[in-house]
Formats: sequence, structure tokens, C-alpha cells
Amino acid sequence: MQELSQRARDLIAAEERFGAHNYHPLDLVVERALGVWLWDVDGNRYLDCISAYSAVNQGHCHPRIAAALMEQAQKVTLTSRAMRNARMPGFLEKLTRLCGYDMALPMNTGVEAVETAFKLARRWGYAIKGIPAGQAEIIVFSDNFHGRTLSAISASTTPEYRKDFGPFVPGFVHVPYGDAEALERAIAPNTCAILIEPIQGEGGVNVPPDGYLKRAWALCREHQALFIADEIQTGFGRTGDLFACDYDGIKADVLVVGKALAGGFYPVSAALANEPLMKLFRPGDHGSTFGGNPLGCAVADAALDVIVDEKLASRARYAGAKIMQGLRALGSPLIEEVRGRGLLIGIQMSVPARRLSDALLERGVAAKDTRENVLRIAPPLVIDDEAIDFLLAAFRDAIGTLR
Ligand SMILES: *Cc1c(COP(=O)(O)O)cnc(C)c1O
Repeated sequence: MQELSQRARDLIAAEERFGAHNYHPLDLVVERALGVWLWDVDGNRYLDCISAYSAVNQGHCHPRIAAALMEQAQKVTLTSRAMRNARMPGFLEKLTRLCGYDMALPMNTGVEAVETAFKLARRWGYAIKGIPAGQAEIIVFSDNFHGRTLSAISASTTPEYRKDFGPFVPGFVHVPYGDAEALERAIAPNTCAILIEPIQGEGGVNVPPDGYLKRAWALCREHQALFIADEIQTGFGRTGDLFACDYDGIKADVLVVGKALAGGFYPVSAALANEPLMKLFRPGDHGSTFGGNPLGCAVADAALDVIVDEKLASRARYAGAKIMQGLRALGSPLIEEVRGRGLLIGIQMSVPARRLSDALLERGVAAKDTRENVLRIAPPLVIDDEAIDFLLAAFRDAIGTLR
């Protein structure tokens, strides 16, 4: 990256002056994007290895999704659920068939779909499992990330997400991620559900031990608790399967999806479950003004087609293996571990990962640290061999400057 231009500096200054400082972004001011590439306000090109935290698995500004958005925007965009709209049924059918569930409840942001799952699990706990009123517990895991609402941060174990935001929503029980014995000890008669990421994205790209998810799933069966999978980041091809749970051959009772569901054009999320469970929601129990709106449904419908038609899961598997192999082959003493699955890759460093992300940015690669010493590499799933070579060459260079 060259010195920031006056225009870039002015934009950054205005953002800092008028916007809340709740993020610490790279000083990369993006003006446009296509596929895996970003261009800043000065026309410099960068390979996007963040993908809006996996919301743009389909690649930036995918023409097919853009066309669906434009077309629907000229017909009707929002009706609210006070009436029905002509786009929602087709989208719901496509989503539920693809994911393998009877029904879906559409929301907008990921955390709203998580909230939906919390409510559904608690209701099931009282109505079906017979937990005494007000006593339902949901088991969550160390270093999880489920979003930023009060209930999601009540489920969190990360101090910076929680500091000064209490009092917290009660009813969450924390256990270490990846430890099946600890989970077994924590499951109690009042447990209505466990909520788990099959691979923790924000937590540092933590891949659980082989067999752990299957064991957790079996424990839920044994103790009559729901297994809720948060696949907001891991879903829709990111890890080389349609869902990360597929790798372990398990099917969650409640599947929570978002991000790539709408290819980065629009916030669309959903909680999916089979009919006996989802029917516990009755009219008036839960809702959202924008959830299931025709514009979002049209966009998500096209975004799902792209995932399937362009075989994004198998492309992620191929590209991810190639990138991980290339990173390991660098043999850098600063890299302690390269882990992940598909195109959700974490590089465990012996130095702060921010140093590497800065060096990469200077070489045209936008990537960010997730935990202090972990750099996450998660490009759009449409990345081709040429871009992979570009990435690995930039890495070789950038790592060299850190030595
Ligand atoms: C991003 C994310 C969320 C929250 O999604 P938002 O759209 O930011 O509300 C929840 N869970 C996981 C695993 C995520 O990666």
C-alpha cells in the first residue's frame, strides 16, 4: 500500500469524527469490488481474504444476485408480515429443501436468528421437556461468537464483548469448547439446548477434536436437549461442505444461518427446524418487520442458486487445501500452526497477527487478525488458481519482512 492519499485520509477522518469508534478497521477505504477483488479510493487492488466475515462467499457483486436485487427493487421491497408476499414461499421452499429441514423462520441479521433459536429452545424446554417455569438453561462454549445483542453477549465468554454491559440475560451455562466430558457434566435436567459453532470463526478458527461434535450431538439425544448449530459463518460452502456439521454427519435440531445466505447484498438470516419444533411458535409470538421481506427473499433465492450452481462447497475444499498446503510449505518459524477446513483458515502466529495483516495489506492482500495471534484467511469461495498464487506470493514476501 502506498501512502494514503488526501481523499482516503479525509474519508477516514470523517468516519472517525462522525461515527462511533466501535471497530478498529484496516485503513483500506473500499470504493468498489468484484469477485475476490477490492479497489480502494485510489484505484489500488486488494485480494479480499475477509469476505465480510463470510457474507460474500459468492464473491463481491455477483451479477446474478445483483440482477435479482434490481428486478425485485422495482416491484415491491417490503410489505411486513401483516400480509403475504409473492417472493417468500419460493425462497423458503428452496432454503428448507437445500438445508434439509421442514420449516424456516426468516430474520435479518445473524444475531436475530440466534435469538430466534434461543426463544424456540426455551419454549420447547417448557412446553415439551417440562422444565419448571423460568428455569431453562442453554449450554454455550468458551470463546463462542453468536453476535452482539445482550443475550448473545450473555452467552459469550470474551471479556471485551461483555465489559460494562451487564446485567446479563440469565440461563446460560458455559463449558470449554472441545471437551465432551465437561459437556456431559454440564447437561442437567433443566438444559433445553446446547448452542455450538461447528468450527469457531471469531474465536480463532478453532476446529474441535475429531468425533467431538458427534459426541455432543449424542449427549443431547441421551439427555433430551436440543442441538443448535450456529452455522452463520461456517455455512453455505465455507468449510468445503454445504454445512460444517455435514463433515461430522450430524443434523442439528435447529440450524442457524445468515451472512452468505444473501451473498453480501442484504441482511437475511434464518432459523431452521422440523415441523414439530417450529410449530411451537404461534402467531404473535415472535417476528420482525423486515424478516421475510420480498427484496431479501429475492436476493437470498438467487444467492442460494449461486452456491449450488457454481459448486462453491467443492471449490472451497479445493482452494482451501491448496492454500493451507502452500502456507505450511513456507516453513516460517513465525507460523506455529495452520488450521481450518475449506476456506476458513486460521494461522496461529508466534507474534501479533496484526503485524502480518499490515505487511499483507502493503502487498495487496486484505486479511485480519481474529484472536491476537491468529490471522484468518477466508476469501470468497470463487477464488481461482491465479488469485491463490498471488496470495501465497504475498504471504512469502510479508512473512519475510517480519523476521
Ligand atoms: C457473524 C456471526 C454472528 C452474528 O451475525 P450478525 O449478522 O453480525 O448479527 C453469529 N454467529 C456467528 C458464528 C457469526 O460468525
